[in-house]
This record gives sequence, C-alpha cells and structure tokens, in this order.
Amino acid sequence: MSKVKVNFPRFGSYNVAVRHIITKGLGCDYVDSPPITKKTLEIGAKNSPDFVCTPFKYQLGGYIEAIEAGANTLIQVGGACRLNYYGELHEQILKDLGYDVKFVNMANADFAKPITFYEEFKKITPNLNIKKITSAVLLAVRMVKIIDKVEDFIRENVGFEVVDGSFNKLHQEFLEDLKEVNDKKELDLIYKLYMRKFKNIEINKPKNPLRVGIVGEYYTIMDEYSNHYMEKELAKKGIIIERWMNVSNTVFINTEKETKQSIKNYAKYDMGATAMYTIKKALDYAKDGCDGIIHVKSFGCTPEIDTMPVLQRISEDYKIPIIYFSFDTQTSDVGINTRIEAFYDMIMMRKDVKE
Ligand code: SF4
Repeated sequence: MSKVKVNFPRFGSYNVAVRHIITKGLGCDYVDSPPITKKTLEIGAKNSPDFVCTPFKYQLGGYIEAIEAGANTLIQVGGACRLNYYGELHEQILKDLGYDVKFVNMANADFAKPITFYEEFKKITPNLNIKKITSAVLLAVRMVKIIDKVEDFIRENVGFEVVDGSFNKLHQEFLEDLKEVNDKKELDLIYKLYMRKFKNIEINKPKNPLRVGIVGEYYTIMDEYSNHYMEKELAKKGIIIERWMNVSNTVFINTEKETKQSIKNYAKYDMGATAMYTIKKALDYAKDGCDGIIHVKSFGCTPEIDTMPVLQRISEDYKIPIIYFSFDTQTSDVGINTRIEAFYDMIMMRKDVKE
C-alpha cells in the first residue's frame, strides 16, 4: 500500500501546526503546497467557476501543485459561509480533471461533537491511536496560539527594525524550528527562546508612530500572498499594524455574544463569516485612536461587501479614514502600492495637523 501523503491548503503560518497533527498524530507524511505564486492562481482560476471567491481559486491551484509534488490525500475545512461547500466542489473538480486522490472534508465534522473529528481523521488513516491524535491536536492548538503571539509582537515592531529583514529572517527560523517540536516542554522552550531573540532585535521606534488597524475577510487578511504582502508594505513605512483577526481569537475564544452586543448600534443581524468581527474591530480601532483602518477582502466576498456601508458610518462617526481593498486574480501590486502610498500620505498629514 502506498504511503499516505497529506496536504492541507496554505494558510498564513499555520501549516506548521497542521503538519504536526498529520505527522505526529496520524503518522502520515505531510506535503507542503509549494509557495503560492502567480502560477498557483492561474491554475486555480483556470479550473474554477468564474465568480467564486479568490480563496477557492488559491486553494484549488495549491491542491493541484501539491498533487504534482506527491500528495495523495487532501484536506479541506469548513467555515461560516459558502466555504462550507467548497470541499465538495474542489473534490468534484479534481476528479473531473482526472486526479486520483483521497479527499477528506472536515466540514463534515461538528465542533459540538469531537468524535466526528476522530471519524474524519480515520478516513485519512484507519490505524488511528486516539491518545496520539489527541495529544498532537492539543500541541498543535498551543502552537497556533504561540504563532499568533509571536506575530502580534512582530506587527508591533517590524516597522522600526534597524536592519532590514531582521524580523522576517528570525520569523522564518522560528517556523522552521517549530517543525521539530515533539512536546509541550520543547514548544514552550522554543517560544521563550524566540521571544527573547525577537525582543533583542534592534529597533528605532518613535514616541508616537502611526497606527493602522487591518480588518476584513478571514483568508485574505491572513494569507500574505493573497493580500499582496500588505503588512510588509505598511511596515516599510514605519507603521504599527494592529490585526486582531487570527485563528486564536476566532476559533479558540468565543467572543460572539460580546461582539454582537458591542456593535448593536451599527448592525442588528449577523451577516455571516467574519462580518461581525470586521465591524467590531473597526469600531475598536476607531475608539482606540488608530490613525486609519484598512479593509481587505476577496472579490465576491458577500459578507464583507455587506460590512462596507457600516464601516463607512464608523468612519464618519469617528472621523477615521478607511481604505478598501478587494483582491482578485487580476489585482496588480502597482495599483495596491500606489493606493497604500496615497493612504499613508493622507494619514501622515492628518496626524501632523492634529498634533
Ligand atoms: S469569507 Fe468571503 S471570501 Fe472567504 S470563503 Fe467566505 S465568501 Fe469566500
């Protein structure tokens, strides 16, 4: 029987935690999707329905590249929007293209019934050891939380590094080292070691730098290729980037009730996916005195389109500038960078006038 070689779509820095579950919890091989490039998007777009949102296209392109790199088992997850149906569609498209792979769709599992996850994992490999998979999942959860804490620190400081690229280089080393972690003790040690290293990077931070909050759609906000490395572009301008949206804050902590309550003057009903969080965080950033807000979404993301008039009201009520970016297969770096440049000039001038 051929070895099970599993792929999970690229998603921010979190693939290292998925890799841990697959290799240590299931005892299977893990095949990383090659880094996302223009080619990935071209392959995905060519084989996707035209009006499907961009994350679908990225993931389909990534699956095909992963299959070509040796993957024979693909995993998809669910979500609070049409993402829940993407697994079936991806599976059918890949079948129609002639790829003979196993497709495991975690959208079939139910968070309220953890046993359903066990059933899905069993489809990847039937020889499942419940103790092993449980401890791998728990460690992966801890890993995700650590990744998020480290990246929060980076966003706050990377714009002020004295030597260009220091944070990025150390971040890559940190993610590489996470791949070798076997248990909680090792993970905590790595976290402490790297936090010390990150804090030791020389920075030159002014007293009152520009602060920008990023809000928007789940995948595009966290996947740097999808948002054309927006956070890196902002950091180059010496801006503190605030981004609440990550897996720890949305999956491991339930803030739904509090979120609904805090935005009740702006939105009565949940518009789906991350819409409520987008509004809540835009409101928080406005109240907290951020200098501007950036809204990102994929083209065709209905829940995030619905948030835009609400964000506009927040912008008017709190006199805070908001800029909107919608990403699709045709989006060019030049257009984005020009708009970031103009937004930066505007918030900079506004800050000078206020001070
Ligand atoms: S949140 Fe929007 S872009 Fe993301 S999968 Fe759902 S509809 Fe598509």
